Amino acid sequence: MAEVRLVDIVKKYGAFLAVPELNLTIHDGEFLVLLGPSGCGKTTTMRMIAGLEDITSGDILIKDERVNNKPPKDRDIAMVFQNYGLYPHMTVRQNIEYPLKLRGVAKADRKARVQQTAEKVELDALLDRRPSELSGGQRQRVALARSIVRTPSIFLMDEPLSNLDAKLRVTMRAELKHLHHELGVTTVYVTHDQMEAMTLATRVAVMRKGRIVQLDTPKKIYAEPADLFVAGFIGSPSMNLIDGAVKDGLFRAEGVEIPVDLGDRDGVVLGIRPEELEITADTSAAIGGKLYALELTGESTLVTLRNGLSSACARGHADFDAEINSPCFLAPKQGARIHLFDRSSGERLG
Ligand code: ATP
Repeated sequence: MAEVRLVDIVKKYGAFLAVPELNLTIHDGEFLVLLGPSGCGKTTTMRMIAGLEDITSGDILIKDERVNNKPPKDRDIAMVFQNYGLYPHMTVRQNIEYPLKLRGVAKADRKARVQQTAEKVELDALLDRRPSELSGGQRQRVALARSIVRTPSIFLMDEPLSNLDAKLRVTMRAELKHLHHELGVTTVYVTHDQMEAMTLATRVAVMRKGRIVQLDTPKKIYAEPADLFVAGFIGSPSMNLIDGAVKDGLFRAEGVEIPVDLGDRDGVVLGIRPEELEITADTSAAIGGKLYALELTGESTLVTLRNGLSSACARGHADFDAEINSPCFLAPKQGARIHLFDRSSGERLG
């Protein structure tokens, strides 16, 4: 197994600075997710670890060894990409066996390892099919099996679930998690899907414009987003973010009045998650407006109210019902976590 260290990594494409300066240590056995919106530099970072992309300056160390000039095949990594990269003319068995063949593993040993791996990802009944005779999820599992068949030191996965339908994504997510538990191999996983990041990661590195804006456990990132960007990016539905100002210990915006522990200040954004708001009959409650939409999700109902330009969403009981456009009031639940950010810098204030 292996620790991966990125030290002062800079990546330029011509004059374009894709990664300004990145420092990151991925611990041995960790499942680290690089999360961020399109174009933030996740794939570039991963490709640099893989050796598929030159680095402009800085060092990459795998197991304490500087690998800047090592080709991908000598880095003891296995990669799984979004588009599987399976060989269409080979059977599932041959696809999985290929990396072993490349490394000159003896035939009998190859056979046993292919069988073992196929069982692990439940492909043993499909070994004689070709990729064209498989569903998307099955192909994805072949790609996965091919990468785990020789237990590398590091897995690099770039949006490996993005071609799958919603249901299969969830199933495969659990499979990946279980597999990581079983194998304990250091894994770097790229995604723009915050739910995938939250559910899979040991730690999440949230990236924006080539920089890591927060590196923490999923729990910490959810409970204590470092800035406004992370606050808005993590969570579904998103955290309510309300523009206002603080005066005399009260955060105020149109239809909103919430006690906060902050000195007088303009340009403040207050954040509160939908599940920390409750619907109330109290007309003097913290947030008042008109009911704008009700969305039943099954286990709960999302209640959105609007007041002028601001809106807020609460997660209510599944059986909550009311007239659209009727007055509606929300209040932070007992002990709810209130987040405060500076409007212009996005910096966390409390
Ligand atoms: P996505 O989720 O869309 O794949 P990403 O976070 O993985 O995005 P990267 O592919 O790492 O983003 O790209 C980071 C930035 O570098 C982007 O602005 C992209 O346009 C730029 N970039 C990537 N590859 C090249 C290249 N070969 N030449 C020039 N610019 C590039």
